[in-house]
Amino acid sequence: MHLIVAEKNISAQRIAGILAGKEKVRVARDGGISSYHFDEKAVVGLRGHVVEVDFVKGYSNWRSEERPPRSLIDADMVKIPTERKIVNLIQKLAKKSDRVTIATDFDAEGELIAKEAYELIHAVNRKVNIDRARFSAITPEEITNAFARPTGIDFDLAAAGETRQVIDLMWGASLTRFISLAARRGGGNILSVGRVQSPTLAMIVDREKDIEAFVPEKYWQLSLETEKDTEIIEARHTTSRFTSQKEALTARDNTKEPLVVTEVKEGSKVDRAPTPFDTTAFIVAVARLGFPAARAMRLAEDLYMNGYISYPRTDNTVYPPSLNLSGLLQSLKKSEFREDVEWVMANRRKVPTRGKKSSTDHPPIHPASAASRQELGEERWKIYELVVRRFLATLSPDARWLTMKVNFDAGGEPYTATGGRLTEPGWRRVYPYSKVTEYMLPGMKAGERLPLNDVTLEEKETQPPPRYSQSKLIQKMEELGLGTKSTRHEVIQKLISRKYVEGTPLRPTLVGRSVIDSLENHADTITRPIMTQTLESHMQQIREKERGSDDVVTESREMLHTIFDQLEQHEQEIGAEIMEQTAEELTLGPCPVCGHDLRIRHMRGQTQFIGCTSYPDCGFNISLPMTAWGFAVRVGNVCEIHNLHHVRLVKKGARPWDLGCPLCHHIASNRETLKLIPSLSEAMMSRLIERHIYTVYELAHTPTEEISSVLGITPESARKLVDEAEDVLDLLRRRSDCRKFVRKYLPPRRGRSPASVIRKMHEVGINDVTDLSHTDEKILKTMGVGEKEASILLSEARKLSAERELREIGIPAVSLKKYQKAGIIGPSDFLDNPYVYISAISGVSPDTVYRHVEMVAKALNRPAGPKYSRTRVEKGKAGLLAIRGVGEAIVVRLSQAGIIEPSQLAESDPEKIARLSGIPAEKVREYQRTYRENENSTR
Ligand SMILES: [Zn+2]
Ligand SMILES: [Zn+2]
Repeated sequence: MHLIVAEKNISAQRIAGILAGKEKVRVARDGGISSYHFDEKAVVGLRGHVVEVDFVKGYSNWRSEERPPRSLIDADMVKIPTERKIVNLIQKLAKKSDRVTIATDFDAEGELIAKEAYELIHAVNRKVNIDRARFSAITPEEITNAFARPTGIDFDLAAAGETRQVIDLMWGASLTRFISLAARRGGGNILSVGRVQSPTLAMIVDREKDIEAFVPEKYWQLSLETEKDTEIIEARHTTSRFTSQKEALTARDNTKEPLVVTEVKEGSKVDRAPTPFDTTAFIVAVARLGFPAARAMRLAEDLYMNGYISYPRTDNTVYPPSLNLSGLLQSLKKSEFREDVEWVMANRRKVPTRGKKSSTDHPPIHPASAASRQELGEERWKIYELVVRRFLATLSPDARWLTMKVNFDAGGEPYTATGGRLTEPGWRRVYPYSKVTEYMLPGMKAGERLPLNDVTLEEKETQPPPRYSQSKLIQKMEELGLGTKSTRHEVIQKLISRKYVEGTPLRPTLVGRSVIDSLENHADTITRPIMTQTLESHMQQIREKERGSDDVVTESREMLHTIFDQLEQHEQEIGAEIMEQTAEELTLGPCPVCGHDLRIRHMRGQTQFIGCTSYPDCGFNISLPMTAWGFAVRVGNVCEIHNLHHVRLVKKGARPWDLGCPLCHHIASNRETLKLIPSLSEAMMSRLIERHIYTVYELAHTPTEEISSVLGITPESARKLVDEAEDVLDLLRRRSDCRKFVRKYLPPRRGRSPASVIRKMHEVGINDVTDLSHTDEKILKTMGVGEKEASILLSEARKLSAERELREIGIPAVSLKKYQKAGIIGPSDFLDNPYVYISAISGVSPDTVYRHVEMVAKALNRPAGPKYSRTRVEKGKAGLLAIRGVGEAIVVRLSQAGIIEPSQLAESDPEKIARLSGIPAEKVREYQRTYRENENSTR
């Protein structure tokens, strides 16, 4: 069998369709993964990388003492499958194959994916022949050619990619961990640092600082208005910017009639057709249509996978001679571009335009087949149309302009006006994306006098440099050698998703800025492009076999160790700097009690709350749900009443939970519980809230004098209110305890949530576990609890409430466990069973059991029953065991009937013993007989 491995499922499907020709392709599904079969061939798609590099086990604990962040530099790495099902299927098919062709994308990333596939196949079939098909577009022509002339995998190119992965993981993981720990951040709030990411972020931060440091300067511009044949002409002073206001004013005052035309110059200008698209130029052009870089690339890849355009990741701006340009034009005729294509065919330039970069791998981005607006949908169509029109433009003649420049003199001051007209639209006919502004001047002659209608002096200010747009940043990254054509847009996307930058154009957030500031202060190598440029040149050396991968990795390790030497020395400062700078993003606004700032606090573990920055002087705080419900962050909206930023709980993979103003939320959620205080009226509640007493807890802990003065009530009424508040607090505690209990034993089910059951329990007065333990199953049934659930809930409630009662009585936890195991659950069990029996079944010594029985008896005000000395118990047991037929088990059962020695056995009613012990009465009589016979014979 011939196995073909493609980069993705969609490309596998298309390749199969093309190679099968007229033959029918059979689709098989295995573990949810499709494969495409025809003519002894099977095609399977990967999902890009199906393995990833990771550290060997043992490095996952961030706070490990033995393995600090630095240890990640030298940690061993392994490749682990990330797409197990695909790996399994490929290996299964590979075992049956005698030939494998790897048809992943034709670039460095694709080559690494090819090598990964190669290794997976080689691991299960050493003998199979593995080759490689390379193509730039998934079209019949390209695919058949590529499969007709397969090549081998370029292992050097793949090794370069692999080295990059290893180094990126090593840098990213160790630095991210170090910086996050230093700034005491964890969970969803870590501070990521990366080899390409950090220098890119630094550029954005630096630009922001330039903008802030920018001091605008005033300048003045002078222009005049005249006319010829009723056409208005505007002319500018030849000093385009006056930096002195005095000079500008003098020039204005000098500008007088007569206004004389001194010179008229006519000429023509060539407007060159644009060069073919590489990835960067494509992203810049598509940004003008309103697509962010990452989105544009996703759509372009989709168009490539479906055979509409060529591979969109390329650095090449020169069409290779092998590219059949005429054939492409022919095929595009079958689209709605027919007219434009025909025009291009009729007017085609001799040689297509070419850019500066020519590489041997991919051609520039170009259309691969005709498509219709309908089959692509609006967004993809826009991108496809841009690619088609750019392609047409590169084959079109240059545009030509007629230009005109007129110089004037007005009272000795020189002015000039320029105009232009497109005489030959050329490529602009088919590429309408850049705007053409034609400005025609009427015909004039030297020496001609014109009227001076108006003179205008404008005061302006110099502008700061602009923030980076995504496409501008990508251009800049390319210039500096940061990242690759495939990764640049992803790096920017990461900076956005990690909340380091925001907005269009991009500006740094506080966090982004503080991380860069701190790194620049202490280890600026990380933020400068030079380091990553060096690495790129090493990658090139690996590709050209000049250096080995190990050698490059070792050098990178040494570099990182040097950086850690600096970082570790300044760990405290780095942490303090970042925490200090980022505090603002957690600050919400004024504390209602003291006016200092309220701030979100994230504690270790799951706890978070809002506290006052002047703690401990001010103890005001608002509790928040545990971080498991979402990590609390500040949002932009501000409460009009409280002047506090709104708070949102964010959780990965879940919709964010907006709490709104935290104080409004606090008041609303405490209103219900305040209402539980019987003598607190609505009016009193409002007064309390005005005086910053929001919760039952705060009310219960406020001095009565203060309450009586706030509410204008007598000290006695205030006392009563506080007492009631304490009762409610107690009720709330019990309810919360009961809620936890119910949630533990009642799994959420459709149509019946634990919360609704709990609400109904409150309605019927079940407020704690003890209440619940006294309830019967019928009542629970009315709340929607099933029979089986109810019986579990009740038995667990009884167990728990009994346990609590016994703990209260003073039974130690260790003994309690032993009793429970033996089935001695509630207090009455201690009094309803003979203590010797309890001891026998629980393993607790008889004297200890008796002590516990006494404690229970006292608490329940019931008698404790007889107590025997330890020797009597032991002797009694020995005596019983001496009776024929009586073993340990029978002794225990007898003790249940209160029989601890032979004499008691002999004297008791056998029927009663039988009832209490479960030993058949017949047997009991037999023991009694044997015992008496023994007694008589020894006498
Ligand atoms: Zn305060
Ligand atoms: Zn509010």
